[in-house]
Amino acid sequence: MQLNKECIVIGAGIAGLSAARTLSAAGRSVLVLESAASVGGRVSTHRRRLHNGRTAVFDAGAQFVYSIDPEFQEVVRKWHSDGLLREWSEASTLDRHPEIVRVHVGIKGMQALPQSMADSIDVRCDAQVEALTLHRDGYCVLTLADDTVLRAADVIVTCPAPQAVDLFERGEFPLPSEQRAYLDAVDYSRCLAVLAVLDRPSALAPPGVLNLSTGPLASICDQGQKGVSSEVPTVTLLAQPAWSYRHWDSNETIVAGILLAVADEWLGAEVLEHEVVHWGYAEAESRYPASCMVLHNTPTVVLAGDLFGPGRIEGAYLSGRAAARMVLGAGDK
Ligand SMILES: Cc1cc2nc3c(=O)[nH]c(=O)nc-3n(C[C@H](O)[C@H](O)[C@H](O)COP(=O)(O)OP(=O)(O)OC[C@H]3O[C@@H](n4cnc5c(N)ncnc54)[C@H](O)[C@@H]3O)c2cc1C
Repeated sequence: MQLNKECIVIGAGIAGLSAARTLSAAGRSVLVLESAASVGGRVSTHRRRLHNGRTAVFDAGAQFVYSIDPEFQEVVRKWHSDGLLREWSEASTLDRHPEIVRVHVGIKGMQALPQSMADSIDVRCDAQVEALTLHRDGYCVLTLADDTVLRAADVIVTCPAPQAVDLFERGEFPLPSEQRAYLDAVDYSRCLAVLAVLDRPSALAPPGVLNLSTGPLASICDQGQKGVSSEVPTVTLLAQPAWSYRHWDSNETIVAGILLAVADEWLGAEVLEHEVVHWGYAEAESRYPASCMVLHNTPTVVLAGDLFGPGRIEGAYLSGRAAARMVLGAGDK
């Protein structure tokens, strides 16, 4: 049977792209399948052209990145030297997490990071994988939403655990019972975000971020002060997980109205337009201690993503790389 690629990676977020780059650097042929129209997953920068011809820019998901692991510090240094990141003094984050020394933001938005990782990698967007099946001859079969069927020797799955479990179920993939029980129990917080265009710069004090522990809002981030939206003043409001959960199905006008009313005293500006973003799997509420989860050997099927290790962008990166090393290690035997 002719394989389409040696390895297929499901998901072009940070974890999937990190896995693909590691495999590609080791000489493996690899294809990344992404259900969305662009790469990045939860590292997403929205751009909106306004009627005056100017462009409003917002980081809609991850707002900044930090690095604790020495290998990931190297990656962050490279992003700096490639002109993708700059340092940002997000002091309240540093106060809450003393292990974090520096916080960095994307100069053209955070999504420039996954976009640069996707350079020279074979990524197919708008490619939703529906089912993952093991063939008795020892390879994996992936069925896409458009009925395309692809075959690969090994697969790395990087979507959030509930979406991964759906893929396995639809493909009648034999998940080991202990791992199945763990994945079924994983809960993700939700996050409602409001991306708002202002008529003037917000009144937030430098560096342009406010973290709140009570009320509906978790944070307000001034995208102009971050350097992301240079032509138009914009802010991103992120709601608290419990509030987001309660208001998940509420009318978006009501959601935005409540969050913008709470933020009003810090904005000191008029909101010209806004958009609500729903993050259904914002963050895993517990983490798996290992850096990835091997679900099958020969063919190797590994689950990776920010559920593993330290989580967030750093954890996703390290997990993708660890999963790729599992595949490479299995191939060396
Ligand atoms: C609002 C918000 C704010 C955050 N702020 C920060 C921050 O400031 N700093 C930080 O470090 N982290 C932050 N995070 C967390 C960080 O964004 C994530 O931990 C990290 O991006 C996860 O990467 P990942 O590759 O594991 O998953 P994802 O980014 O979720 O990537 C998984 C990809 O798989 C794709 N996919 C899913 N199912 C399929 C399928 N069936 N077929 C094909 N593709 C599929 C998805 O479309 C997605 O692109 C934030 C997250 C949110 C939501």
